Amino acid sequence: MRRSLELVGGMSALIRPGDRVLLKVNLLAPAGPDEAVTTHPAVVRAVTRLVLEAGGFPTIADAPGFLFAGGKSRALRQSGIKAAADDMGVTAVQFESVEKPFVMTPVPDGVWLSQILAARLALETDVIITLPKLKTHSSTWYTGAVKNMFGATATRTRKYAHNLGEHEKFAAAIVDIYSVLKPRLAVMDAVVGMEGEGPRHGNPRHAGLIMASRDSVALDAVAAGIIGFGPGEVLTVVNAAERGLGMGDTGCIEVVGERAADVAVDFEKPSGRQVDIHPLLMRLGNRLVKVEPHLVRDACTRCQICMKSCPADAIAMDPYPRIDRSLCIQCFCCNEMCPEGAMEIRKNWLARRLVR
Ligand code: SF4
Ligand code: SF4
Repeated sequence: MRRSLELVGGMSALIRPGDRVLLKVNLLAPAGPDEAVTTHPAVVRAVTRLVLEAGGFPTIADAPGFLFAGGKSRALRQSGIKAAADDMGVTAVQFESVEKPFVMTPVPDGVWLSQILAARLALETDVIITLPKLKTHSSTWYTGAVKNMFGATATRTRKYAHNLGEHEKFAAAIVDIYSVLKPRLAVMDAVVGMEGEGPRHGNPRHAGLIMASRDSVALDAVAAGIIGFGPGEVLTVVNAAERGLGMGDTGCIEVVGERAADVAVDFEKPSGRQVDIHPLLMRLGNRLVKVEPHLVRDACTRCQICMKSCPADAIAMDPYPRIDRSLCIQCFCCNEMCPEGAMEIRKNWLARRLVR
């Protein structure tokens, strides 16, 4: 970790003594460190130590997925991050557990979001450091440094963004959030990432990397390339680069420490990955090519988490979850949030032939 930070100029070049520093971890859901769902506590601990050495005052925070909002601390404890923070005498909290946790904040150059409910801890800090986990994502294909800031908003803002529906719009909304809550540094936990049905139900995959950059967009562009996504496939990178919020062209990004090609690990891609259809067939394809969540009834405990997590209110309990296909926007939050893996993403016959 120390070497990675030295290669991007060192922590003391990024923060001044006395700065309040928010370490925005990925605490998607309650999961142990070995499950590769959350930022590993060893990574959090190492970055926290460097912030303390530079004279900063770190606070570690995130807001787990929709249902886990409300100040519950299970995800913090189970991830090992709470214990790491306690060891170092540092505060680790969920955004919603502080007083007046979210503040309505304008997005001056927002494309889809003109205002967001942003975490007060993220607004009232001197420096944000984003600490994402290297993972695939069933909805956005890849989740990284830029998307990690999505978790620094209230459930209402996240649901609104999901309800935009199309991947391009959702990616632009994530970038809207990033444009307001822009980290000064990104440090990615890419030691053991997640491939396949990320960000929660995939498989841990060793990549053996710590990646750091002052440009979260550049970090995402390089990381996505390392795990096998082609240029232009990660829409948050495309959108942020087009808006001048970072460098998305890997040909123009200086990578130091390791050569990206030497450390490439081709991750298994998520089922919902982009459908490759000729543009002339796109309108027809959108109706006929189906990649949708399906209940595996035997695995379902009827806990209702999927119903409460669905931003489109497309799920009713009857007594098992029943999905209203006319309302479903294929955001796959139900898959992401189901603790039992009982909401599978399935492709129909045509999708199996067209999805890359
Ligand atoms: S599908 Fe999963 S989240 Fe939904 S009720 Fe069943 S177990 Fe709970
Ligand atoms: S049913 Fe699942 S995929 Fe469909 S809108 Fe609800 S959460 Fe998203």
